[in-house]
Amino acid sequence: MSESKKQTELFIKSKTLVPGGVHSPVRSFKGLHTTPRFFERAEGAYIYDVDKTEYIDFCMSFGPLILGHRNPKVEEALRSGLTRGWSFGACEPYSLDLVEFLISKLPHVEQMRFVNSGTEAVMTALRLARGVTERNKIIKFNGCYHGHVDSMLIKAGSGLAGTAEASSAGVPEGVAQDTLILELGDVEGVKKCFVDHKDQIAAIIIEPLPANNGLLIQPKEFLSFLREICDQTCALLIFDEVISGFRVAFGGMAEITGIKPDIVTYGKIIGGGLPVGAIGASKFIMEHLAPIGKVYQAGTLSANPLAMVGGLTTLKEMTPEAYVRLESQTKKIVALLSSWMQHFNNGEFAAFKVLHFASLFWIVPKDEVQKLADIPTNITEGFNKLFEELLNRGVYLAPNAYEVGFVSLAHNDEVIRDLEHRLEHRIQ
Ligand SMILES: *Cc1c(COP(=O)(O)O)cnc(C)c1O
Repeated sequence: MSESKKQTELFIKSKTLVPGGVHSPVRSFKGLHTTPRFFERAEGAYIYDVDKTEYIDFCMSFGPLILGHRNPKVEEALRSGLTRGWSFGACEPYSLDLVEFLISKLPHVEQMRFVNSGTEAVMTALRLARGVTERNKIIKFNGCYHGHVDSMLIKAGSGLAGTAEASSAGVPEGVAQDTLILELGDVEGVKKCFVDHKDQIAAIIIEPLPANNGLLIQPKEFLSFLREICDQTCALLIFDEVISGFRVAFGGMAEITGIKPDIVTYGKIIGGGLPVGAIGASKFIMEHLAPIGKVYQAGTLSANPLAMVGGLTTLKEMTPEAYVRLESQTKKIVALLSSWMQHFNNGEFAAFKVLHFASLFWIVPKDEVQKLADIPTNITEGFNKLFEELLNRGVYLAPNAYEVGFVSLAHNDEVIRDLEHRLEHRIQ
């Protein structure tokens, strides 16, 4: 595997300046036999490293770029935004345009507030749920990722069902105690939690399409069950749609399943590649936030005017036809990758399947995976070989076996023909 001298030097320099050489751990190529690629520009479905090597990008910034890199309409909107200034720290009309557009399409949302990341959105949603219900405990599912909020960096404990411990150093035990951890699909466990912690559970939070530990597609019945038990116990249901929102359908999994969350969090696509997160809920719930309500929440750069324009321009492109096109392109890509893996090098990767949902796909050596425990524990080694083989062919996946692949509207038929060619020929 040949990373260039230039990239090796950049990584060495990066490691002296930044912990582990990266600003987010999943970028580090940990466990791979090559250094992270340093990218200098991107265009459409392609990304280019500092050696000018071109890759078809299936990471797409981990999801936000549903139109592809440098979509011309978004670029034009951002350019015109630049001439007006890029932060006011005051009321402006651009966020209203975005909220108005969104609530006209999202029946479960009457008001929204913008923040700067998915993590921030989740943090706010949890505080809001606790403020509204005046309860402390939150049910979270093993295998769902909700950003790096203290109370969400929690894994199942070794004790009784529902007990939890921190999955990161620096998270106080006291914080872990208020998070109850269950396995996805564990109906009985959820019921038991509501009995054991009667009138103490503020909310259940779930990725309705868990897509941060592979793609753990949930049956609709499980989500309906969560909706019902929340209704019965006056707990709130939080859908974390930071990945699935505007991705699987405009209204995310709430639209696909017809199940209305009480609070929804968005991120990624909502900013079109600029840093935006959001929470949405009924007016009643949202007005518990300061300055009207007692739940404090704030942000110097929140509803940043440039980011608002980037988000709105991106989302306006996401018509029903766009989703149909995205899904059909994804199916072609999945078919190509699957067939290549079946035949490559006498079946070296034949154990791998490509699971997919809308424009998300996940490469895993199994047919059906619905919870964390279903994921084979040894998937990394095989995936790493596959990742490196594809990298050598100019195809860039997220550099980790547990991350999904993202298809954008820029992955058109021409790109797919190019993918077919790359799967037949090594470039390095
Ligand atoms: C990405 C993600 C987050 C965190 O968002 P950041 O913008 O990375 O802070 C939270 N929840 C889900 C479901 C995500 O996919």
